[in-house]
Amino acid sequence: MKNVKYTEMFYSIQGEAVNTGRLCTWLRTFLCSLQCRGFGQVEPGNPDTWAEQYPLIDVKNITDLNKIPTPSTGCDSAYSWSAQFKHLVLSKTTRELATDIRATTPKNTFDGVIGHVFTGGEPLMQQVALAEIINFWIEDDDFPAWVGFETNVTQAIRPELKAAIKALQDKEVLVYFSMSPKLLHVAGEQPKKAIHIDLMGDYVELCPHSYLKFVLNEDQRAWDQAKSIYLALKAEPYRVYTDVEVWVMPVGGVIGQQLDPAVGRIADKAIQEYQWNVSPRVHVLIWGDDQIGR
Ligand code: SF4
Repeated sequence: MKNVKYTEMFYSIQGEAVNTGRLCTWLRTFLCSLQCRGFGQVEPGNPDTWAEQYPLIDVKNITDLNKIPTPSTGCDSAYSWSAQFKHLVLSKTTRELATDIRATTPKNTFDGVIGHVFTGGEPLMQQVALAEIINFWIEDDDFPAWVGFETNVTQAIRPELKAAIKALQDKEVLVYFSMSPKLLHVAGEQPKKAIHIDLMGDYVELCPHSYLKFVLNEDQRAWDQAKSIYLALKAEPYRVYTDVEVWVMPVGGVIGQQLDPAVGRIADKAIQEYQWNVSPRVHVLIWGDDQIGR
């Protein structure tokens, strides 16, 4: 039985894209394959210009996850992968997590209505362990109504996870990957490292309800890269996946950024020029910058 490194588990709603507002439990695993230090920077694609995250505080002295301020630059969940937060990492066996995640719900059961989201960091870096959690839920005959994986699409699917997903699908549970490739002129990630069209094709083949979720700013180069990824999924050899939905999330993890007029301009562009769906971060609009664990 595997151990999982994670930073938080909780019961709330889904705040973004498909399933927004729906009840679900969450597991935020530790570790990520990227760093996304470009988010919110003046020039996301130019590392020489980046401001540091958490420049004014000594994060080593923070002992409570809820006391971490949401940064306006870089990854808004750096506490789920950065070595700076190693002292806050938790670890449990997959059996313990399967039980404890369910216990975050009001009646200690998924009850046929509550879903589950694996997020991170990059949850698929511990996918064999996540498969074990799913298998325990199935064994207990109390499994989520739907399951989502929020991923940056850098990890190949392992046979163990594939089998666990198929077991859920056999129970008529809708499983999807929220595929959020990280763009050069938004997140500062180099395409060679961050963009893997072949993996997206594999994810969609396994879970046809998977969708693309692009975090976007007003830089046209970022929209061009997003469009090229979308078109690549529609071209050979992936052209069977023409139904992949696209969701645009305006950049910004703090409430001030979500209320900025730029959000409206980004939404207009998505709606009018691209015919792509738009998603705010509803959890930020509801709970403001006090959003960890919600
Ligand atoms: S992929 Fe997600 S968790 Fe990882 S660094 Fe980027 S924004 Fe943060």
